[in-house]
Amino acid sequence: MKLGNYITGKWIEGDGDGQQLYNAVNGELIATATTKGLDFASILDYGRKTGSPALRKMTFQERGRMLKALALHLLQHKENFYQLSYKTGATRADSWVDIEGGIGNLFSNASLRRKLPDEIFALDGENIGLSKRGTFAAQHILLPKEGVVIHINAFNFPVWGMLEKIAVNLLAGVAAVVKPASITSYLTEAVVREIIASKILPEGALQLICGSAGDLLDHVTSQDVITFTGSASTGLMLKSNPNILRENVPFNLEADSLNCIVLGDDVTPEMPEWDIFIKEVRKEMTSKCGQKCTAIRRIFVPENKMEDVWKAISKSLAQTTIGNPENEKVRMGALAGQSQKKEVLEQVQKLLASSQILYGSLDSVELIDADNKKGAFMSPLLLKNEKPFTSDEVHNVEAFGPVSTIMPYKNFDEAIALAKLGKGSLCSSLVTTNEQLARDFILGAGTFHGRILVLNMDCAKESTGHGSPLPMLIHGGPGRAGGGEEMGGLRGIKHYMQRVAVQGSPSMLTSITNVYQPGAKGKIDTVHPFKKYFEELKIGDQLITEKRKITSEDIDKFANLSGDHFYAHIKTTDFTDTMFDEQVAHGYFIMSAAAGLFVDSYEKNPVLLNYGIDELRFTKPVYSGTEIYVRFTCKEKISQELKEITPETAHVKGIDIPKGIVKWFVEILDETEEPLIGVATILTMVRKKS
Ligand code: NAP
Repeated sequence: MKLGNYITGKWIEGDGDGQQLYNAVNGELIATATTKGLDFASILDYGRKTGSPALRKMTFQERGRMLKALALHLLQHKENFYQLSYKTGATRADSWVDIEGGIGNLFSNASLRRKLPDEIFALDGENIGLSKRGTFAAQHILLPKEGVVIHINAFNFPVWGMLEKIAVNLLAGVAAVVKPASITSYLTEAVVREIIASKILPEGALQLICGSAGDLLDHVTSQDVITFTGSASTGLMLKSNPNILRENVPFNLEADSLNCIVLGDDVTPEMPEWDIFIKEVRKEMTSKCGQKCTAIRRIFVPENKMEDVWKAISKSLAQTTIGNPENEKVRMGALAGQSQKKEVLEQVQKLLASSQILYGSLDSVELIDADNKKGAFMSPLLLKNEKPFTSDEVHNVEAFGPVSTIMPYKNFDEAIALAKLGKGSLCSSLVTTNEQLARDFILGAGTFHGRILVLNMDCAKESTGHGSPLPMLIHGGPGRAGGGEEMGGLRGIKHYMQRVAVQGSPSMLTSITNVYQPGAKGKIDTVHPFKKYFEELKIGDQLITEKRKITSEDIDKFANLSGDHFYAHIKTTDFTDTMFDEQVAHGYFIMSAAAGLFVDSYEKNPVLLNYGIDELRFTKPVYSGTEIYVRFTCKEKISQELKEITPETAHVKGIDIPKGIVKWFVEILDETEEPLIGVATILTMVRKKS
């Protein structure tokens, strides 16, 4: 069977026989992959002219809902993916990370829409005042790039590798062309077939090429983005493409990484942290047969505990059953193919120049339900290196399989220095109960890592583990890990959006951004804003309230009611050496009094509830006799979709009410008007008319 390429709106087979792709477990031919004869320039053009414009027309809310629908759709078909995934050598547990972990990324990015506006672009940071009189200001905004994103992925996670990346570019509003690594591309192709068949994405939002990337990168332009995951050598070769350099195309590189784990010298065999450490090492060596970019390659242990640790790791590795991943007894499957096995063994030979094997064998492995001659199986290998400061290989050579090296350190400064000899890693872990040690490690080795896990009893049960990149956290690392960064919640979308600093008057910035900017002109209406439904409210709708005189009696009463008898609110305090001249009103009282001024009436109105304050500042003391009033402005509106009514949510009052979030800018003033007494952004839920 020849794999399809989904390009320019059609499934197309490339010319010629193509690369043969084999079952990692039994060596049988699965499919061939070829892109021969494809016009790569037109693929990119199609993404730019069809997919990206369609996505750019959608708001973040629509894009987020689209991702959720896609995640739900793929979940329905997951069993087909699991069946195919066995052929890559992965166990069910390995495939869970790849398949459901990948789908989880879609869900997670779908949920990010709640932090984004109902717009096709986003604001980045706060309004920045640029003038004394407040007539000139700036706001950074993020616009989806007008190009296409090219994802060149590694072979080890054919599903997650695609979904974790497209989830982000689709939310940002940019189309993608995915090029999976050929060896496992049959699984990626199966997932893309389901995505395309679902018709959930707009046409052109996702294209797939299985096989060689041809001259694809010679056609990228400045609005495109490239992400590459794979070996450092391929990455360097690709990013040096003169066209990429000439056009200044962002190139996000995620390369191989010599990740480490450190055992704190406070941890002894009697402590639970000892077992936590051993378990984490075994898990990272054997899950996905060690083919994880984040897997632990270097193990640093206090020198007096070396023997105890390697014996415990070896004992644990001996319990790992290896073989046909479809057999339920098997815990570790095969490498992705014979070519991978050959490469891993070559890398191990390089490591053996300065290390010795403590556990495992280079040429034999006990298997369940599998034939070592046909499948790409290998034994886990635990190596020992006694001289980590003088051995280069162990900090430079990545054997991308179940291979890790244990090394001693004399004191914790050495442990930090050794961690950094990896010249930049995706992640590292420290197992310790000692808070000072943890702080020293983070501050000492932090700049050489993208992520650091501090593991002990307190968090081990719920910990997501050393090797799991999470959609909410950045994934990537400095130096030899590629210097790239991806995911990380809202941080991720910024890779696919252009940041523009927009300058102008506050009123102009309000009109452009649809978020009220301080100092902009308001629109005063005879109808109180709380009497308006969500759809009727306009950004900038403004209310100037009545005035209220604050009295000493009010302050006394608020102190008694709230129990807040801070000395500054007490009339009889001697105010010498304090920040105040006399009894001062509680800030919370002023905020409450402000609410008393801007809240409308006893009658029911479209405002359903007030659910918090985003920011609240008391900027000037209020003494008795001050007359306060409020400028109350509609700042931002975020439409909310109706929540699904399920047996679990059916009892939640108001779940079926159509509504949206309205943020209000509250400025509390006195007769001098400047400076303000206080400022706040309050959050309400407002009923929709329909
Ligand atoms: P690789 O050989 O460097 O290949 C990576 C990708 O580049 C594949 O899709 C490959 O396609 C493609 N490629 C190769 N030559 C190309 C060219 N001339 N033009 C365009 N594309 C080209 O790496 P791999 O063996 O697949 O992956 C293993 C490595 O990836 C390990 O070193 C691992 O550490 C690293 N990795 C890093 C991360 C991370 O997040 N940092 C994650 C996973 C893996 P073909 O397969 O068709 O050659």
